[in-house]
Amino acid sequence: MFDVIVIGAGPAGMMAAGRSAELGNKTLLLEKTDSSGKKLLLSGNSRCNITNSCESVEDFINNFSESGKFLRNAFSVFFNKELLRFFRKRGLDFKVEPGGKVFPITDKADDVLRILVKYVKDSGCRILYRKEVSGIVKKADIFEITTKDNSSYSAKKVILATGGLSYPQTGSTGFGFHIAKTFSHTVIKPKPGLTGIILKNNFLKEWQGVSFEDAKISVYADDKLIHNDSGEMIFTHFGISGPFILHMSHIVYDSLESGKKVFLSVDFKPGLNHHELGLAFREELKNNPSRKITNSLKEFIPPRLVKRFLESIPIDPDKLLTHISKEEIKSILEKLKGFRLNVEAVKPIQEAMITCGGVSVKEIDPKTMESKIVKGLYFAGEVIDIDGRTGGYNLQSAFSTGWMAGAS
Ligand SMILES: Cc1cc2nc3c(=O)[nH]c(=O)nc-3n(C[C@H](O)[C@H](O)[C@H](O)COP(=O)(O)OP(=O)(O)OC[C@H]3O[C@@H](n4cnc5c(N)ncnc54)[C@H](O)[C@@H]3O)c2cc1C
Repeated sequence: MFDVIVIGAGPAGMMAAGRSAELGNKTLLLEKTDSSGKKLLLSGNSRCNITNSCESVEDFINNFSESGKFLRNAFSVFFNKELLRFFRKRGLDFKVEPGGKVFPITDKADDVLRILVKYVKDSGCRILYRKEVSGIVKKADIFEITTKDNSSYSAKKVILATGGLSYPQTGSTGFGFHIAKTFSHTVIKPKPGLTGIILKNNFLKEWQGVSFEDAKISVYADDKLIHNDSGEMIFTHFGISGPFILHMSHIVYDSLESGKKVFLSVDFKPGLNHHELGLAFREELKNNPSRKITNSLKEFIPPRLVKRFLESIPIDPDKLLTHISKEEIKSILEKLKGFRLNVEAVKPIQEAMITCGGVSVKEIDPKTMESKIVKGLYFAGEVIDIDGRTGGYNLQSAFSTGWMAGAS
């Protein structure tokens, strides 16, 4: 009989297990794959963007969707400073990159994982691998846990840290959602978060790899503006990606799910308003009347975009600037400030960085991570309905909720 069994050796589960054992609880960590932290190893392109340097808890929480407020208590106890102190104490230092992204100084997610596994073991917790939990029942005050290989374990308390549904090859296949439902918990429908947007436009192969340091995108659903954001963006073989695109993917997903037609309007020149862009374009017309429009446009958008851009108006690419009509100028300026891209879908949850949705925060005590429905059942990490932007927010959430659950 264990005091605590933690299910899932991701960042949340390892932190929970280590903390629980460190406080003197007889703790067992069960992991279904053959090693810990498979997703953690992929994080930040294997460099692990472990947290964000954002100093205030409130500003940090603003980088989560609505349910992020749930994290206030956990962050008041174990926030980014505490997390970095935890690793520094164990010999790993960090650096801060643009956007406040914190990475280990070694650029290796492996170093983060190594410290976590050592922490779990040194604190006296037992870890068992290839133990896929298949069922949990509560009899009297004891949880009976069975695994696929027919082993069974009992514990006074259970911490579910089984992650979400994204990247199933790392082990997270939604088991926690299933168990939460069997214990009468509400599970907010899981959907892909932080994923690329698939476009219908047929010229993507030609645009693949073209990137922008600063582009602005407005999202329209059934012709109504529902969102806009700006930042770095890249055209890919399937559509578009980039930090702010990843973040808007769940908004696009929701609209598509409700049957709406979605298109994106790209402002290729967000630094200039319509008037300023008009002045710059007319200056070009005045100075280079015998230049072909194809060559002039290369001053305004990346050269690989020009052919399809002109086709969309349409204008003969060999037309000289002196022959461009007023109507054509108007269309060019309009398209530079709002080029339409039709959305097919967002990348599936299997390829998404995180899962939006999960066990409802309304049914979890934010001070302890204990279920408000089942005494002794705790949740930590991505299994909970919390999702943050890219930038280290999701791992901090996993570590903080893991720490709280382990300490409780
Ligand atoms: C490619 C990629 C890059 C990312 N980069 C970043 C980044 O740089 N910064 C950031 O903040 N976030 C990043 N994230 C998100 C972050 O990795 C996750 O939010 C985080 O790993 C969630 O931690 P977790 O412990 O809750 O779940 P997971 O890491 O998913 O761990 C869950 C564990 O539970 C185990 N498990 C599941 N079911 C069972 C079962 N039935 N029995 C036993 N064990 C089970 C799984 O095998 C797994 O080991 C990235 C995600 C991806 C996919």
